[in-house]
Amino acid sequence: MIGARVKVPFARKKVVGIVLMIKDKSDFKQLKSVEKVLDDKPILDKPILDFLFWSAKYYHYPIGEVISAALPKNLRIGKEAVIKKAIELSNKTKKPNFNITEEQDIAINQVLKSVNEYHGFLLHGITGSGKTEVYLHITQAMLDENKQVLVLVPEIGLTPQMITRFESRLKTRVVAIHSQLNETQKLDAYLMAKNGEAGVVLGTRSAIFAPMPNLGLIIIDEEHDGSFKQQSSFRYSARDLSFIRAKQANIPLVLGTATPSLETLKNVIDKKLIHITLTKRAGEATLPEVSLIDMRPNFTPQGGTEKSNSALSAVLIEKMHQHLAKGKQVMLFINRRGYAPVYYCKECGWKAQCTHCDSGMIYHRHIHRLKCHHCGDEKMPEHVCPDCKQPSLEVLGYGTERLEETLSSYFADTPIIRIDRDTTRRKKAFTEHLKQINSGEPCIIVGTQMLAKGHDFSNLSMVGVLDTDAGLLSLDFRATEHLAQLLIQVSGRAGRSTERGEVVIQTRYPDHPIFSYVLSARYVQFANELLKQRRSAMMPPFSHQALLCANAKNKQNAEDFLREANILFKNIQIDSVETWGPVANVIEKKSDYYYFSLYLQSSNRIALHQMLATFHQHIDTLKLKNKVRWYLDVDPID
Ligand code: ADP
Ligand code: ZN
Ligand code: ZN
Repeated sequence: MIGARVKVPFARKKVVGIVLMIKDKSDFKQLKSVEKVLDDKPILDKPILDFLFWSAKYYHYPIGEVISAALPKNLRIGKEAVIKKAIELSNKTKKPNFNITEEQDIAINQVLKSVNEYHGFLLHGITGSGKTEVYLHITQAMLDENKQVLVLVPEIGLTPQMITRFESRLKTRVVAIHSQLNETQKLDAYLMAKNGEAGVVLGTRSAIFAPMPNLGLIIIDEEHDGSFKQQSSFRYSARDLSFIRAKQANIPLVLGTATPSLETLKNVIDKKLIHITLTKRAGEATLPEVSLIDMRPNFTPQGGTEKSNSALSAVLIEKMHQHLAKGKQVMLFINRRGYAPVYYCKECGWKAQCTHCDSGMIYHRHIHRLKCHHCGDEKMPEHVCPDCKQPSLEVLGYGTERLEETLSSYFADTPIIRIDRDTTRRKKAFTEHLKQINSGEPCIIVGTQMLAKGHDFSNLSMVGVLDTDAGLLSLDFRATEHLAQLLIQVSGRAGRSTERGEVVIQTRYPDHPIFSYVLSARYVQFANELLKQRRSAMMPPFSHQALLCANAKNKQNAEDFLREANILFKNIQIDSVETWGPVANVIEKKSDYYYFSLYLQSSNRIALHQMLATFHQHIDTLKLKNKVRWYLDVDPID
């Protein structure tokens, strides 16, 4: 039976397999027989299998691995496919205490006009414009037709808030699929999606593979978010795959965001997506006022006589006092956890470096250790400089931990809540922090990007962004796109209730063109500028890319493998595909392995894929193949 699991002998072990095809004959003589059929009904039905086969082909990844990524672990290891604890059907649903706006009404109707065939929509609404409200309405409409709805959200967007919002509004079972569940819960969620009991599946990227026999609609919230792309082993993009899944099921697809990716905007230009806009904030909220603070060393801002320090300008501190005095909450973003990013000698310039990576060690004060954020290596900080033997070691720069400490000297009476990977490692910690913020008491929230998305804190009236400049200086061609998205998303956290919020961005590059757009919330104009640049440079989304990456302990092997591969690509001779490299990755050495990449690019997607497929057929001719770890990344995002 196709799609069922079987137990088969494999070498000296027994492993779980999936029946993908049934043949009468085989070219192999000595075949062992299947030991046991584990399922009496297929665990993967035809539509999902078709989808998985398509994905395997597109990403040039083995079908077995693709299926394995799509199944919960308990099914992979052969456990019985039974639900342990079904989710209750909630019967306490609440109606909202407001009416939908005219814009929301138009958006809802436009999607619902075409429910029984494939149509792609971009729901482009500014932060707080009520996109989630639109999702809830179109989802309810599908549930009324006995259809299931798949909602994908970014990794850090799947908050208890979001789940509760769906649960409390919809008369159906909402199952969540994300990494924080234990294996039993993951299996239950999967099986409830599969047997149709779950009306809504709300999950992070891997939920794109959830089997849903009555699937009627797919929603991708915050479609621009990088976490829809898996960055290890099977490197798929759940956002991109959602187009295929929706087409195969012949159902509508809704991509929602305040800051569409350039790929998505190009799809609108190419008429592959219908553009729906929400231009106003819902309720009485308005967009916040955004201003810049010039952080150049010689610059004294007007009235800036108060002492300031290198991370916090006097103006920022003054504004924070004003908001807190009004009983409001303030949030500060800094994109680095730990105490300080640099531990160095002020006599001779020695810097603490990781011995396994091309990277500095970050000082963490609460454990008094230096940590590498790439490989996780830790050590006690030296007392004297290893080079000049002077006791002149100091920290430089700011991370969340140091910012928290500095703030407590300026704001002794205000609670400070730090949210980063170090303070939220425990499963419940994040929820507890959110609870404290949601109580509405005045406080200062210090956090990393983790906080940029999806949260709706009603008493938050000011947001400060402390370190934008790395994004302006980055070599990655997508860096300014991502920075603009981040700044707009972050700004969207402020002033979500009646009073107007304020956003303050500190930078040493106040004249950078990005700010004139961000200050006036003209994201689309900025994106259009970037699109023009990408078009003239023939960069994505105006061309298609793939990367062949290799890493090895022996640097030469990694580089030479890619040189060999490049010769193979050249021999395949597909004119429209260009290759360049091999080049060392930005961080060349990580955990003692050297990383190199070979770039492939073409304006013709089919040609690029032909090239990759042919490459795969001849991969065994590469002599260094077994001396390196290598992989292909199709449509890489960084
Ligand atoms: P988005 O998803 O676009 O950020 P939300 O759907 O979360 O926006 O809506 C932002 C806030 O506005 C929420 O608190 C929501 O309850 C509220 N809201 C949504 N639609 C309306 C409406 N039509 N009238 C009043 N308030 C609304
Ligand atoms: Zn020294
Ligand atoms: Zn390291």
